Amino acid sequence: MQSLQEQYDLVVIGSGLAGMTAANILGRAKHKVLLLEQHFQLGGLATTFKRPGGIIFDVSLHGFPVGMIKSCKRYWNAEIAERITQLPKIRFDNPQFQIETTFDREDFTKLLIEKFQIPAENVVGFFDKARSMSHYDNANLTARQLFEEFFPGRMDVVRLLMEPITYANGSTLDDPALTYGIVFSNFMSKGVYTFQGGTDVLIDLMEAELKKNGVDIVRSANVSRIVCNAKKINSVIFRTKDGEKTIRCKSVLSNANLKGTIFDMVGKEQFADDFIEEAEAVRLNNSSTQVYIALSKGYMLDENRCGDLLFTSTAPEFSSEKLLDKNITSRTFSFYYPKTRPGTDRCYIVSSTNAHYDDWNGLDAEEYARRKSELTEQTLDYLEKYVPEVRQNLDWTEAATPRTFERYTKHWGGSSFGTKYEGLAVSRGLPQQIEGLFHSGSVGIIMSGWLGAVNYGVIAANDVDAFLLG
Ligand SMILES: Cc1cc2nc3c(=O)[nH]c(=O)nc-3n(C[C@H](O)[C@H](O)[C@H](O)COP(=O)(O)OP(=O)(O)OC[C@H]3O[C@@H](n4cnc5c(N)ncnc54)[C@H](O)[C@@H]3O)c2cc1C
Repeated sequence: MQSLQEQYDLVVIGSGLAGMTAANILGRAKHKVLLLEQHFQLGGLATTFKRPGGIIFDVSLHGFPVGMIKSCKRYWNAEIAERITQLPKIRFDNPQFQIETTFDREDFTKLLIEKFQIPAENVVGFFDKARSMSHYDNANLTARQLFEEFFPGRMDVVRLLMEPITYANGSTLDDPALTYGIVFSNFMSKGVYTFQGGTDVLIDLMEAELKKNGVDIVRSANVSRIVCNAKKINSVIFRTKDGEKTIRCKSVLSNANLKGTIFDMVGKEQFADDFIEEAEAVRLNNSSTQVYIALSKGYMLDENRCGDLLFTSTAPEFSSEKLLDKNITSRTFSFYYPKTRPGTDRCYIVSSTNAHYDDWNGLDAEEYARRKSELTEQTLDYLEKYVPEVRQNLDWTEAATPRTFERYTKHWGGSSFGTKYEGLAVSRGLPQQIEGLFHSGSVGIIMSGWLGAVNYGVIAANDVDAFLLG
């Protein structure tokens, strides 16, 4: 292990986008920062994995809002920001409609008025209302009520506007409308974006920037305990292959799962009873399955036919519950061309679905393997509708389940987007419980996804900075 200092101003637990962003800002501000990551790679869910033959799969690089450019420029560097490019072809195929869109306000307005025959004032009213939403709004209005106000009885419009956001942050029609409105408006401002070069290049550039800013990093460092004395942060205990180590610190910012932070790492006895009651009531967000498909070298997908992102469903109508059902009716396909990774001559397809952890947990090894293989085969069968020659041009297929996400990130329930909305107040309330304890990372739906995680990292970094300087 590299030589570490005796004491740090801040220990960041977890190198997801929120943890890394906070570490970078605070390192740049000349605080002494140590970043501990239990996995051997940095990035958390923003990650890649390699397979023989030069195959490399991106796990969560499907699309994020334009705001990433500004956030990366400001809190990372220009090189990272300049690699962010738009995905121009977003497609929908379901029993209610087939469309292609650039996924921005102008194109959506045109589609809603011309194809869906919605009165212009309703379209404008909806976009304005979604755009005006903030964290301080009334959380009692649900997304369902918001749609009913502007598009009464139009489940086809609900599907168009809701389905991509459900994939992007797990929100449902019964979640607060503001969690939908904020994320939708972020996307709608200018469409959907990706990182050219692949997630591995992004994370390498981030690691270089962290090191430049003096942040010490230890991988394969599993934090078992955040130690507090008299309601103040004292130290962090972690384990690497070299054994257990305790590092003293003035503050801790956990980027790990909110519930894992409170109940596994700090311990409920350290908190007030009413806070624990509130934390226990926080619901986890859903998990995901994915099927990763590497096509043969040199076999090129037709960009015009496949597009960049394809939201498909065989369900007659949109339903948040159906999107999670183990009998899959809705899949999102990401098509990756060599332009994503300039210099390669291979295309990839990744299919994603939302999923319930409990549908995968508890299966014995044999049944688990069978279900994974069934997931892959059904996905390929389904994909033949869009890429009929897919099976003749396969180099590698592999499936990930909620158990995979749990294993690699330690998120309770393999949660893809942290917690539901009520998690935000608990996450923000930690410093009032224990002096010097902060949390940042997927909570409350809004603070999820690549942009949400980065921006929450910025917010938490400001809090930690104020604490350390105070
Ligand atoms: C299948 C899938 C597809 C997605 N697609 C998109 C997409 O297209 N666009 C988008 O914007 N978002 C997408 N997301 C969501 C997005 O990837 C996440 O919201 C975001 O990356 C989460 O960042 P985070 O900072 O919350 O931390 P996470 O990525 O959750 O990382 C937490 C880190 O903490 C570490 N950790 C946990 N416990 C410990 C411990 N005890 N000790 C040390 N380290 C620990 C973990 O190993 C991990 O590295 C997707 C997610 C999934 C699962």
